[in-house]
Amino acid sequence: MKHDLGLLGKTVALMLFVGSIIWAWEAHNVAAVRDTVTVTTADRITVIAGAEQTTYGEDSEKEKQQVIVVGSAAPRIGFINKAEDVSKLEITEEPTPGKTVYLTFDDGPGKYTGQLLDILAEYGAKATFFTTSTYPDSQLLIRREAEEGHTVAVHSFSHKYSQIYASADAFWQDYGQQSEAIEFATGAKPRFLRFPGGSSNTVSANYCKGIMTELADEAGAAGLRYVDWNVYSGDAGETTDADTIAQNVIDGILRNTKNDNPSVVLQHDTKNFSVQAVEKILQWGVENGYTFLPLTTESPVCHHQIAN
Ligand SMILES: [Zn+2]
Repeated sequence: MKHDLGLLGKTVALMLFVGSIIWAWEAHNVAAVRDTVTVTTADRITVIAGAEQTTYGEDSEKEKQQVIVVGSAAPRIGFINKAEDVSKLEITEEPTPGKTVYLTFDDGPGKYTGQLLDILAEYGAKATFFTTSTYPDSQLLIRREAEEGHTVAVHSFSHKYSQIYASADAFWQDYGQQSEAIEFATGAKPRFLRFPGGSSNTVSANYCKGIMTELADEAGAAGLRYVDWNVYSGDAGETTDADTIAQNVIDGILRNTKNDNPSVVLQHDTKNFSVQAVEKILQWGVENGYTFLPLTTESPVCHHQIAN
């Protein structure tokens, strides 16, 4: 169903003319930074103009849902400063930290990764994949991840703790194999890694004392960024229930929002029940003004306390 954007068009043009800042988001698709947003009936547009709060189309319930003008409220998605026409608005700035979510998936690609990519695409959400090469179709899926705008990073080639944490040399050898696999599949060298078990893991001490401290230093020296998480989904053994995982993630994001911190969520795309939880998380996120972004070198750093 096509909705008449006449009033909306005139409003937006006027706001641009007076140099106002316009901010828009789609009700269903989460717009990534620098993405082009297409305005449709299902979308809402927020115009920030001065300090006053105005609602357009108060006489029409439909318009009221679609156009909201707010005052000095912090942007949740991003500012728009260029619009060739009302249906194509370019977002050029980052959302506030507390409303930014970095979904990250470890251990894949796996059997459910294709399905996960479909869900992410449906919501226009971007994520980060800390990959392994333990699945037969991993190369094709890694390529698809990159092609669809997600960040592809290294988790481990083999994911065998006893092997990778035997020594720093052994770790970097395994890292190099996965880095090459990613470069081969995507044409780009990965910049991020997630240590199996996180940088705070103590399992590695069974194989090599002090190795995490050493690896963290070496990663920094090599210009690589290791990434931990501040929202744990509980999908690594605590629960196999998709609804519980979704609720764990939502609770964790809300805790971060309270402190205006971004969320870095840990899930595993090798687990069906965890992938099932993603749609619920995205639905909730979209309804509550969150933006789902891939990790980039501009993203905030999330590190645990190293314990070995
Ligand atoms: Zn892992």
